[in-house]
Amino acid sequence: MQQTTACNAVHTVEQRTCKWLVRMCDLVGTELPVTQEFLAQMMGVRRTSVTGVASQLQKEGLISYSRGNISILDMNLLQRRACECHRTVRELYAAEFDDTERTALPFRPSTCR
Ligand SMILES: [Zn+2]
Repeated sequence: MQQTTACNAVHTVEQRTCKWLVRMCDLVGTELPVTQEFLAQMMGVRRTSVTGVASQLQKEGLISYSRGNISILDMNLLQRRACECHRTVRELYAAEFDDTERTALPFRPSTCR
């Protein structure tokens, strides 16, 4: 819960979309039976934001999508684009509740690795 909140605050929809795609790829492989609508709901963003990101990623050859299906074409590039919040839960959690750290929050994205 806290992880999601912090991630939403400091990372772009693109970084988060990449993270979810990488995560799901770990679970089910490179053919993901998901819609952009599903991704949007999972991240709590508007579907149009996901559509914009997905179309950009497809143009760059990282993924390809058709109705109800997303294929991962370049896992390495996708991982490089993704934020890595799942590895820094404790760090982000601390940032949420430490006042000294909180003032440094705008700079969090660069330290979130
Ligand atoms: Zn994040």
